[in-house]
Amino acid sequence: MTAKPAFELRGVMLDLGRITERRSYYEALLPRLAEWGYNLLHLHLIDDQRCALVFPSRPELATPGAFTPEEMRRFVALAARHGIAVMPEIECLGHAALITSHPRYRHLGEQVDHQWGFNAICPSHPETREIIADLLRDTAAIFPHPVIHVGLDEVEFGKCPRCRRSFGAGSEAWQRFAAHSAWVHGTVRKLGRRPAMWADHVVHEPRIMKNFRRDVLMFNWQYIAEYESPKAALLLDAGFETVACPATVCYGTRIAPNAMNLANLRNTVARSLPQRRRGKGLSGLVNTVWCPWRYLPGAIDYGLALFGHLATAGGEDPRFAERFARGFYGMADGRQAGAALAALFGGGIEQRLHDRTMKGVCREEPFTAEDRRQLALLAGQLGPVLAELRAARRAVRRNRERYGDVIISAEALLAVARYGAAGRRKSAAKGVAALFRRALEAWGRDRHADDSLRFGEGRHGEVQSLLWALRKLR
Ligand SMILES: [Zn+2]
Repeated sequence: MTAKPAFELRGVMLDLGRITERRSYYEALLPRLAEWGYNLLHLHLIDDQRCALVFPSRPELATPGAFTPEEMRRFVALAARHGIAVMPEIECLGHAALITSHPRYRHLGEQVDHQWGFNAICPSHPETREIIADLLRDTAAIFPHPVIHVGLDEVEFGKCPRCRRSFGAGSEAWQRFAAHSAWVHGTVRKLGRRPAMWADHVVHEPRIMKNFRRDVLMFNWQYIAEYESPKAALLLDAGFETVACPATVCYGTRIAPNAMNLANLRNTVARSLPQRRRGKGLSGLVNTVWCPWRYLPGAIDYGLALFGHLATAGGEDPRFAERFARGFYGMADGRQAGAALAALFGGGIEQRLHDRTMKGVCREEPFTAEDRRQLALLAGQLGPVLAELRAARRAVRRNRERYGDVIISAEALLAVARYGAAGRRKSAAKGVAALFRRALEAWGRDRHADDSLRFGEGRHGEVQSLLWALRKLR
């Protein structure tokens, strides 16, 4: 490759704060990311479910499978040998349920009643600042990366008596958010690092950024198909360097990346190109992959490779899918598999229809005639795609297990569609028990044993996981 990449920063974000995979999973990913054109790995280290790093100052927060500082340093060095920088992210306000559910810190939980279940650690409690400062100091000591991402997304806080006192009874939500953010940014600067943050609150309420120093790197996440460039323009016009973030896997992904996800990847690159500038401006792209309970490991390779290609080339090679099948699966001729992969991930099931089906499976709501019609249509599309994927399997020479995950994902999608189309007649679920066993095996291949089915249910109340769906279909 001789041409200059379209974007200087080409990243992928992995959600270790939801499920922390085995070391070997991340190590094996590094050469692939390099091959696909990435130069940044953004690690979302802590969230409501997991803390993927043993923080020396707060070791009690670490969850099973967490990297020790030494393991993380070794991993960062290994990534560097593949030309990939590793940027850490620590949530510094919301997504803090793991911390606030720990017996030692339960008193720090903020009172919230948000419809999406957002939570916060009370920013007005003096202990909160001590914890955040400790986590950031440990992070700076472990990661050499010049940027520390401080989260600050999806949060609601400020109703508790302590916050009302400390921020003033008349303070507005945006003022409270701006004040806490500015303190976090300052804490990062004192460590000699540059702060980065998610821009959702800022884009929603631009007054927040009024007094921010312009060194804050804004991660502008937008996961709908139509990436809206005016939101990025808002940040750029205010003088912030901005990173555009689509998702291969987000809240709208069911079982495998779908049409919305792929359109989101493509539109983000296409609409970011005119906003790309040198120095301050839109310098980079980060492809986010949220909540590993939504997919089998091999189901994200196509989306990761596609985005790496788009971010590097600035446009799409019409033969990308075929080349991906040849390169990644070692096929002599990638045409058949490439076409099937493009159809599978460019279609898939949309969130509403999948969740509707699951409600039918759970017998909460009967299927309507329209639901059944749409699901029959989907089943009709998926059947031939699965047949093509199976036929091409003989030609796979590399990454066989990852290809197997794609087939299982296609089978699961088809099972869901058939089940719904039949209006939950038992016969539609034939063969699902065997599929469930194979999916469970694929699920556990890279994962620590304790990351079991519970992540797909219970705490989230949504049907997100392949296994959850399959188990219900049995
Ligand atoms: Zn509070």
